[in-house]
Amino acid sequence: MTETVGRFAPSPTGPLHAGSLLAAIASYCSARAAGGRWLVRMEDLDSPREMPGAASLILHQLEACGFEWDGDIRYQSRRQDAYEAALEQLHGQGDIFWCRCSRTDLARLPSPAYPGTCRHFTAYRTDAAIRLRVPHGVIQFRDTVFGMQHEDVSQSIGDFILKRRDGPYAYQLAVVVDDADQGITEVVRGADLLDNTARQIVLQQRLGLATPGYTHLPLLVHADGSKLSKQTFAPALPLEDTAPLLLRALQQLDQEPPPDLAGEPPAAVLAWAIEHWRPERIAPGPIPQLPG
Ligand code: GLU
Repeated sequence: MTETVGRFAPSPTGPLHAGSLLAAIASYCSARAAGGRWLVRMEDLDSPREMPGAASLILHQLEACGFEWDGDIRYQSRRQDAYEAALEQLHGQGDIFWCRCSRTDLARLPSPAYPGTCRHFTAYRTDAAIRLRVPHGVIQFRDTVFGMQHEDVSQSIGDFILKRRDGPYAYQLAVVVDDADQGITEVVRGADLLDNTARQIVLQQRLGLATPGYTHLPLLVHADGSKLSKQTFAPALPLEDTAPLLLRALQQLDQEPPPDLAGEPPAAVLAWAIEHWRPERIAPGPIPQLPG
């Protein structure tokens, strides 16, 4: 049997908040409940969006919550060679092309899917994005919380970007290369990424990589229904007295922690959560985050 390997993969665009805590705690409990490893990966590919100091603040926040990761932290900003090697493999297979269509050119088109305009540019061009030639066909996978999913990426999205025209490797490429390289067997993350998963599976298939299991978590929403995020000023997780937040996160994930855990330190709350981890209890609907 293969060992379970989970991961938490924050982008250092700001500190962790209650929404990111759900992904951290669920990925942690899932991996640990299976006796597996849990890795932390900084998805620091998009430097203009990053907040100076956020990566180290995130690690302090995780420590303050009692999380213990295995091995060294991986930083995607140091993985350019691996992403380039994946692009070379895809190029050798005839799976990529160079595209200079601007966002405004594409926005004018009737269908949201990329129309294939630059598909014939199969050799290097300067000042161009690199796109994956997406084959026709329905991708199917079963999500632990959201159930069976079906998507024909060639219809819904079309040929998607692997490397941006202004330089950075795209999230889709980096996440697929690193999940495989780190031997990740289960991806547990927010439901805002559910509709990225079919694209990631297409890419895994083109690169000959295994597909991990997927669990997407319900999103925390403000009273008006908008997603809790850095953009909507979700408050940062504090660096002390974190046990009540862990308990609240477990309640939001329908784990029903006993009230007498309230006075315990974070490590004891996590130990309870691992021992009683029941992913099948998690309901897919959005979770209203009440103030306080
Ligand atoms: N870095 C992404 C985020 O912070 C998560 C990516 C993933 O878990 O696949 O939203």
